[in-house]
Amino acid sequence: MITPASHKKYLFLIGCGHSHISIIKKLGICPLPDTKVTLISTDSLIPYSGMLPGLIAGHYTFEDCHIDLQKLCQRAGVQFVHSEVQHIDPLTKRIYCYQHPSLQYDLLSINIGSQPALNDIKGANKHGCPIKPFQQFLDYWQHWLKIAQSMNTNVLQRIVMTGGGAASIEVLLAMHYKLRHTTSIHASFTLVCANQNILSSFNERVQVFFKRHLKTLDITIISGRHVAAINQHQLTLDDGTILDYDFSAWATHAGAQFWPAESGLKCDNKGFIQIDQYLRSVSHPDIFAVGDIAAFMTPLPKAGVYAIRQGPVLASNLAATLKQHPLLAFKPQKRFLSLLTTGDRHAIASWGPLFGHGKWVWWWKNYIDRAFVVRFNQNRR
Ligand SMILES: Cc1cc2nc3c(=O)[nH]c(=O)nc-3n(C[C@H](O)[C@H](O)[C@H](O)COP(=O)(O)OP(=O)(O)OC[C@H]3O[C@@H](n4cnc5c(N)ncnc54)[C@H](O)[C@@H]3O)c2cc1C
Repeated sequence: MITPASHKKYLFLIGCGHSHISIIKKLGICPLPDTKVTLISTDSLIPYSGMLPGLIAGHYTFEDCHIDLQKLCQRAGVQFVHSEVQHIDPLTKRIYCYQHPSLQYDLLSINIGSQPALNDIKGANKHGCPIKPFQQFLDYWQHWLKIAQSMNTNVLQRIVMTGGGAASIEVLLAMHYKLRHTTSIHASFTLVCANQNILSSFNERVQVFFKRHLKTLDITIISGRHVAAINQHQLTLDDGTILDYDFSAWATHAGAQFWPAESGLKCDNKGFIQIDQYLRSVSHPDIFAVGDIAAFMTPLPKAGVYAIRQGPVLASNLAATLKQHPLLAFKPQKRFLSLLTTGDRHAIASWGPLFGHGKWVWWWKNYIDRAFVVRFNQNRR
């Protein structure tokens, strides 16, 4: 039987974070009846964040840690729009993108992640180099590496990383490994952390391990200080200290894009979309939001783990909304396993108060991460 075209619903997915990617994969196996699904993404090759430190350190190639979205969408029968969403109009249900005609939706889901918040820091929007978007960061790092390698190796290169969380330390250690093991660049490394302790959301054994590890590698930690300003060559801390730098990167707390709040979606005071237990916008029930961009009823850490876990509930709720069936509630886990790399092929594992480390942790993480990427790149369903 041919369904009349007017019955067709238009489901749009904005951004291809960890939740949407699993939905697209699932659509290849069970398509939604009478529904045209479209993904709008700024990237056509998306990196798996857990493998980025390994890419920077040189343990992985670009292909090892990127998922080809265009091919994934093709296999799943999902239309792919390679563009960036500028804003939406929830009243007329239209999506406005850069250099693309506007689009009409019936149902919408937003999974656009977060980026280090730089607005409070003078000069950061011009001179700061946030570690997200990843591609922009990788381009900047590789460009800098090329220049540094062509210079006199006796000139000291000063690298400063701002942020005391896991991503910041993993990336700094990866840069340290790369420079010390594969180049003759003579460099010093400094980590600036606003809290008194690095990795403040982890147990004490993780903190002690990394403090000792950074010290062994001669990496200076400046803790309890905020960066107040940045110019082309210097960072100014809130106590007036000036740090000269040659390469500076930012992995400060997560910030949100402005457009969801500016489009009229109810957001928290940081601009994250407020959602209910069903992952729906509290102000617009035909819009779902997941991953870092969403502010769940009980605050969740901005970690890929939650975005991954929200994927199946989101898939079920999008299908249920189209069929006007009851929705499933998302029940976040209280604890999650963290596997953090230490530069070399070595990693630590932490779960609540538990802690372990060794090369075996790195190989375990490597197995999980590679399997994740392969799952989305392979042709098999
Ligand atoms: C170096 C590093 C290592 C990390 N390691 C871990 C780890 O081991 N475990 C863990 O749990 N978390 C980790 N994280 C945190 C994790 O990356 C984030 O929490 C996670 O990526 C958030 O996922 P998401 O699904 O919300 O969105 P993202 O994965 O950030 O994806 C969002 C996507 O939306 C696209 N997009 C953005 N804006 C628009 C727009 N306006 N229009 C269209 N498309 C758009 C982006 O291009 C991107 O592809 C790490 C982060 C970093 C930086």
